[in-house]
Amino acid sequence: MFDVYPLYDIDIVKAEGSYVWDSNGTKYLDMYGGHAVISVGHTNPHYVEMVTDQIKNIGFYSNSVIISQQKELAEKLGRLSGKEKYQLFLCNSGAEANENALKLASFYNGRKKVIAFDKAFHGRTSLAVAVTDNPGIVAPVNKTDNVIFLPLNDKNALEKAFAENEICAVITEGIQGVGGIRVADDDFLVKIRELCDRYDAVYIADSVQCGCGRSGKYFSHDWAGVDADIYTMAKGIGNGFPVGAIAISPKFEAKYGMLGTTFGGNHLACVAAIAVADEMLEKNLIRNAEEMGDYLMSELKKIPGIKDVRGKGLMIGIEMDYDTAALRKKLLFEEKIFVGSAGNKNVIRLLPALNITKEHADTFLNAFRKLLTE
Ligand code: PLP
Repeated sequence: MFDVYPLYDIDIVKAEGSYVWDSNGTKYLDMYGGHAVISVGHTNPHYVEMVTDQIKNIGFYSNSVIISQQKELAEKLGRLSGKEKYQLFLCNSGAEANENALKLASFYNGRKKVIAFDKAFHGRTSLAVAVTDNPGIVAPVNKTDNVIFLPLNDKNALEKAFAENEICAVITEGIQGVGGIRVADDDFLVKIRELCDRYDAVYIADSVQCGCGRSGKYFSHDWAGVDADIYTMAKGIGNGFPVGAIAISPKFEAKYGMLGTTFGGNHLACVAAIAVADEMLEKNLIRNAEEMGDYLMSELKKIPGIKDVRGKGLMIGIEMDYDTAALRKKLLFEEKIFVGSAGNKNVIRLLPALNITKEHADTFLNAFRKLLTE
């Protein structure tokens, strides 16, 4: 293998709900959902049944024929998100979703300059990485003068950048994930909407990590009460099957050949995403994410020794005064709990499945309290 991932010496072979088992039979609580990917639980029975039934009939055909599951998925995502009038384009990953959103914005207004924010992460393909604030992963070939990075939540800087440049688009996460669970202020998102309207620029809401109901609304940007022009999605919408998508406002007109992909929107991918949407609708998982998130955050705020607790719903950052690597290792190897990190490594990131229960939350809280008092 091309050695790009630092690995824990754990071989996960089985999973169910919010638990995973390694090859020695050790059981772990998954409070990280494999980077926010597991939304309706590992090996969710409805999901397994639908994907299994589909693969027995047909797994793939290209986008040259009708794939009726695409329409069903578009309708269900519209219902879940409340963006019924938006159009759906299907692809395969978060980076690809952002890549297509930025292309579409540029096709729309013919411009080139994009505003992104400090500590943003939007993926690793060419445009997506160009709007990502991490020089370490930007190759020379990805470098461009077309991206302006501004401080997150600085409305004056945003006004100034619009006044001084011909802006094509603004791309922002509603809650920065990789950047350290940094929440975009509601009035900042309202300002982005206002400026994009005033200058005919495109507001792109990267919902790859903070979307799919995780924040307690389908898109975390919706907490601000204004619509984006394009929402980008991946991770949780496929519960582990690679599915990317963009929801596109009615003001964009499609043209044949404008966007495209071989794998995007195939039968199997659509059915995986439909099963996720079914579960979310039927079990009201967006509500559960909000309730469980509120519970976790309010309990975490009572624990001494924590510098800050922030986020929304089940996208939670626990900031400490120190590098959390040793604490995360203890959580994993002593308490058998998976969590993630974010930002400058002082932040522990929780991104569990949206159907976690109070019992799961308490297991994590008790273990965390214990480790902090040791
Ligand atoms: N956007 C955000 C906010 C993300 O967190 C990620 C992945 O972590 C991406 C985009 C890229 O998604 P993918 O890894 O599926 O390309």
